[in-house]
Amino acid sequence: MNRTILFFALITITFRLTAQTYKEGNIYYDKNKWVEFIPGNMPLVISVPHGGLINLTDVPDRTCPDAITVIDTHTQDLAKAIDSVFRRDYHFHPSIILCNLRRLKVDMNREIELGTCGNELMRTPWMQWHDWVDTALAMAVKQYGQSAYIDLHAQGHPEQRLELGYLLTPKELEESSKGDNDTAYTYKASIKNLIAANKGKLTLKELLTGPNAFGTWMVESGFPSVPSKQDPYAFSNQKYFNGGYNTARYARYPNVFGWQIETNSKGVRDTPEAYYRFAEAFVKNIMRYIATYTSIDVKKIGK
Ligand SMILES: [Zn+2]
Repeated sequence: MNRTILFFALITITFRLTAQTYKEGNIYYDKNKWVEFIPGNMPLVISVPHGGLINLTDVPDRTCPDAITVIDTHTQDLAKAIDSVFRRDYHFHPSIILCNLRRLKVDMNREIELGTCGNELMRTPWMQWHDWVDTALAMAVKQYGQSAYIDLHAQGHPEQRLELGYLLTPKELEESSKGDNDTAYTYKASIKNLIAANKGKLTLKELLTGPNAFGTWMVESGFPSVPSKQDPYAFSNQKYFNGGYNTARYARYPNVFGWQIETNSKGVRDTPEAYYRFAEAFVKNIMRYIATYTSIDVKKIGK
């Protein structure tokens, strides 16, 4: 093949890859159905990295140093319940990105080397999954100017509460909640873009542990949460996840804000009724959050 033909062949391939449009109402998979993208039509993107159950027996298990392989049980069910509640009550719904492979084979909440433990075959689904999170956020920001992002997980800690991860350690949350050093952590937080531009000019402390913090509203809806007004930070003898790779990578994108949610089992993931109770509380409070703090006109969402 001469160079000119090769050049135009490459241009055509590149154009096809970047020109793919994703339509709300469709579901997209890679060719093996290892990863899945449900494009939405509202300013909210939910990624679910650890809920997959497909076990590829011919792919070696991830055994490299620091690899964690625990499944986040029923987190895909939670995301689908959230999607159903949105469709039922609002007639619009978030973009959702699922990994259907077991974490034993690929971890979407780690950088690619640790996420694949160097397995070549797992690089493609890793890249596709992240490409879709990227695409979903770009679509939402393009349409609405801003977007919320949630990375949804499951934790098995003794404390039965939602752990909201804003990329701050328990010590930093403690200092922030006591008003000792609030602004120092603003630029580190996963909601730093919202703090810079929220309608009520609320500070980090108010958005994490004030009467109108997301966690505070979830507690009022029956779901104990940390941080919140009622439970501002985890104590040093308690376990707490403060947000991982995805939260650090996506929640601080320009015009994006968000956090990680580590769900407990009891009353959240233990029965199908619980999935829906959690989904109803989440949907109500995330909509209230978007309406209260962003400049998005919620009456125009999905239109
Ligand atoms: Zn997880």
